[in-house]
Amino acid sequence: MEIDGSKLLSVVIPAHNEALGIRRALEVFRTTLSSCGMEWEIIIVDDGSRDGTFSCLREVAETDFHIKGIRLSRNFGKEAAILAGLRAAMGDAVVTIDADLQHPPSLIPKMIEIWKTGPKVIDAVKRSREKDSFFARVRARLFNSLLSKLGGINLQNSSDFKLMDRQVVDAIAYDLRESQRFYRGLSDWVGYKHETISFDVEKRAEGEGKWTVWKLIELATTAIVSFTSAPLRIVTIMGFISMLFGFVVAIEALIGWFQGYAVSGFTTTIVTLLILGSFIMISLGIIGEYIAKIYDEIKSRPTYLIESTFGIDIESNRQRPSL
Ligand code: UDP
Ligand code: MG
Repeated sequence: MEIDGSKLLSVVIPAHNEALGIRRALEVFRTTLSSCGMEWEIIIVDDGSRDGTFSCLREVAETDFHIKGIRLSRNFGKEAAILAGLRAAMGDAVVTIDADLQHPPSLIPKMIEIWKTGPKVIDAVKRSREKDSFFARVRARLFNSLLSKLGGINLQNSSDFKLMDRQVVDAIAYDLRESQRFYRGLSDWVGYKHETISFDVEKRAEGEGKWTVWKLIELATTAIVSFTSAPLRIVTIMGFISMLFGFVVAIEALIGWFQGYAVSGFTTTIVTLLILGSFIMISLGIIGEYIAKIYDEIKSRPTYLIESTFGIDIESNRQRPSL
């Protein structure tokens, strides 16, 4: 393929404790990219690894100037790592991809071809998850369908493997100001012309998946709370339902009272109390989630902090207008 030297492709890779597989992964990425027909750079964001991922990266980078690295000051999560990478990327197009080779790099040239024909975002969509564990599949399905139903954004089988045009990267990295992010949702929210391309999820090359159930719940909450106020409406609906229920019980009690007998009290009271009590607690919890997010956003702490970098001039990145 002929190299179009005027265009640069950035590949952003978040990595957390990937020392076991990162060398091989980089080998694969380099082979793919060197024949992709564009100039390229790889930006690896070490998301607070404790297993020497970063020193491994430095070593590899000594032999290849295309490889650049950012180390975050602690583990901020994949979303934050992707954002750090997007802000450091200089490319006309930027690909985000996992470090564990579950997203096949061989798709990148195809994405570039599609990008050249006009679409601004090329989403890689999972065709099958056969190689994922049963638990991972159920988890993903639950997560995606919950978000699609409540959040109104189509996430079925979507992934963080995407190619985005510079215009979209600028929108996501600089125009959107929220500090708690859900990348998959945002890349859909910003609009622009999307194109999809499907892939089969590969088995993890090395090591273990990094998601804990807790981290997933956190991500799901961020996603729902930042994309929809539907849960708040559910609270209102729950209020109306218990009001209706209350009317029925009240009328029955009044009729009983007028007819001279009282409803046999204890069981009814205790059941009503428990149901209402849990409605109220759940409602407070839901409202609490929104308040917590408002609180987090209003503090406007940075999404991540950078400890060190190589191959990247952070200072010039800081000059960007709306950072
Ligand atoms: N990752 C990260 N920070 C984290 C967890 C994960 O940067 O706190 C990276 C990880 O190194 C990998 C990608 O995010 O490159 C996807 O993680 P993983 O393979 O554990 O998740 P899954 O494939 O199950 O989505
Ligand atoms: Mg993975």
